[in-house]
Amino acid sequence: MSRFVFVTGGVVSSLGKGIFASSLGFLLKKRGLKVFMMKFDPYLNVDPGTMSPYQHGEVFVTKDGAETDLDIGHYERWLDESLAKESSVTSGKIYGAVLEKERRGDYLGACVQVIPHVTNEIKARLHDAERASGADVIICEIGGTVGDIESEPFLEAMRQMRVELGYQNVMFFHNTLVPYLRTSEESKTKPTQHSVKDLLSIGIQPDAIVLRSEVPLGEGAKEKISLFCNVAREGVFEADDCEIVYELPLKLHEQGLDEFVLRRFGFTKQTNIDLKDWEGLVKRIAETKASGKSVNIALVGKYVELKDAYLSVATALSHAGYHFGVKVDIDWIKAIDLENGNYEERLAKADGILVPGGFGERGSKGKMLAIEYARTHDIPCLGICFGMQLAMIEFAKHVLGHQEANTTEFDPETPCPVFDLLRDQYDGIKMGGTLRLGEYPCALQKGSLAEKCYKAPLIKERHRHRYEFNSAYRKEFEEAGVVFSGINPDSGLVEIVEIPKLRFFIASQFHPEFTSRPLRPNPLFQEFVGAAIKEKAER
Ligand code: GLN
Repeated sequence: MSRFVFVTGGVVSSLGKGIFASSLGFLLKKRGLKVFMMKFDPYLNVDPGTMSPYQHGEVFVTKDGAETDLDIGHYERWLDESLAKESSVTSGKIYGAVLEKERRGDYLGACVQVIPHVTNEIKARLHDAERASGADVIICEIGGTVGDIESEPFLEAMRQMRVELGYQNVMFFHNTLVPYLRTSEESKTKPTQHSVKDLLSIGIQPDAIVLRSEVPLGEGAKEKISLFCNVAREGVFEADDCEIVYELPLKLHEQGLDEFVLRRFGFTKQTNIDLKDWEGLVKRIAETKASGKSVNIALVGKYVELKDAYLSVATALSHAGYHFGVKVDIDWIKAIDLENGNYEERLAKADGILVPGGFGERGSKGKMLAIEYARTHDIPCLGICFGMQLAMIEFAKHVLGHQEANTTEFDPETPCPVFDLLRDQYDGIKMGGTLRLGEYPCALQKGSLAEKCYKAPLIKERHRHRYEFNSAYRKEFEEAGVVFSGINPDSGLVEIVEIPKLRFFIASQFHPEFTSRPLRPNPLFQEFVGAAIKEKAER
């Protein structure tokens, strides 16, 4: 049987609940427990796949092909574990399942209600995750803040879980903000007290409170919170802003967080913990910052105003930077701005150019200008998904002389469809969830740059796209110097392209950013950043 930790938030949103939950998962895994993590999102979309990146930030894709909240990416990176579709639950999924059952007549004439039908469905998802993961501890974060109408059924289901599974098997961690009044130099605990009152009014007494504050909190404030929120002093934790975010689990460990949870759940054997590799990471990042070494990567995208839209890409770049002890400075370039004519000037200081995934024609010309610049100036270039498609279209236009080269995403009738839907691929399927999603194998050509990066003949990476390279053009590209160095061994689809004549020009149909981890950068990112560092040194 799994134990459950529910992580809620109060006072304000964007408190860093996801980072706290990840830190807790990390520490419990380091203690030798099997940990699984989940996120409950109260919105009515079935998944974030159809939501604009401006609304939601990036869509993270799990190994088994679920389109999920970006917090799942945090969990995977911190836990160094691949999660699964059970990790991501939305109100849309819950209500969808309830309505389907109602139409099937499964409720046998009952009046279908939030309690018990919706709450039962929520609890069923927790038990599904328990079955699928076999975890000792399942940490489940509830999106939004306590008091939101949307999250009430989730909280009610969790309250019931505690009654059903027993108090000793379920814990609630409530995250709040403690504002600091600069003029009176005071940290105010009242919002936390009110937020706990909100939780109590729905029958949930938190076991622990995690306080976010911009200044270190005094013992007095913590004791006050313990007393007024009815939480033992040892259950009051501080999660202050950290210079380096990876310090947080170390700080929480010092405060006894993992001990507290182990004791409460009755895990007595997990007495050891080795945090050396993580401490090494924090130290390396601090040294990198102090060294002042940096490299400039131009990231050319459509939604660059919202950095969260490229969260995993930016994170994977920084992982590669830690590896080399070099800070990666990302120059966020709005693709459409490059179309104004001054693109060469704008890209001149880039040590590497990255064109990430994307959808739709707007800005695609700017992205192709960036790719063309990298190709003609031999600047290290990494194309991801849409970036790979545009790299091949740019090549077809300017090297193969197919001015009309295109993807059927932009023009279904194009005379030169370098990227196209596979025949019968999506006949009669609706918009949501129609992409090639999740992990697929990819065989790497011997001696290629891809093989040099991965140091393996066969890899697996995650996908999220509809259009595929049209093999009818393959020979023509090869004759002009493109190498199709990564091929799906089952379907023959093109997964990686490279131009060996250039120093580092590689692009993948999959998204390598999803598998990068702080201590294990993704190989394509690592070698790309390595090439950019070299480029900078040679200038
Ligand atoms: N729009 C392209 C496709 O659907 C690329 C998608 C992506 O970059 N994730 O194939």
